[in-house]
Amino acid sequence: MDNCIFCKIINGDIPSIKVYEDDVVLAFLDISQVTPGHTLVIPKKHVANIFEYDEDLAQAVFSRIPKIAKAIKDADPEIKGLNILNNNGEVAYQTVFHSHIHLIPRYTDEDDFS
Ligand code: 5GP
Ligand code: ZN
Repeated sequence: MDNCIFCKIINGDIPSIKVYEDDVVLAFLDISQVTPGHTLVIPKKHVANIFEYDEDLAQAVFSRIPKIAKAIKDADPEIKGLNILNNNGEVAYQTVFHSHIHLIPRYTDEDDFS
């Protein structure tokens, strides 16, 4: 997709800090960190949101989430938990229309995010 910022990140036209990459997904730090280590996991295939997934893509993308979540947690002993968030549609607060899954590390129960 020509005008998609996340496709541009996949292509390397926009820089990102990569956390994980394979043939199916790219994981990179969110530009606006809710907590340190806030990561977005995106399919390399452009789909706008959950409503455009077929079963095979869903299996391929979502089955990778636990591995990436564990890698983030293992990278910092201060990480005690992690929120997984996926916004679909403008009314659900989606702002970038290339599907992405937020992995948001939690450090204490006083993090400024709920
Ligand atoms: P949404 O609200 O659609 O669920 O989340 C979109 C996320 O993409 C936001 O958290 C925003 O900070 C992040 N984002 C938007 N543009 C860029 C960018 O160019 N680079 C990175 N790394 N993250 C971005
Ligand atoms: Zn895209």
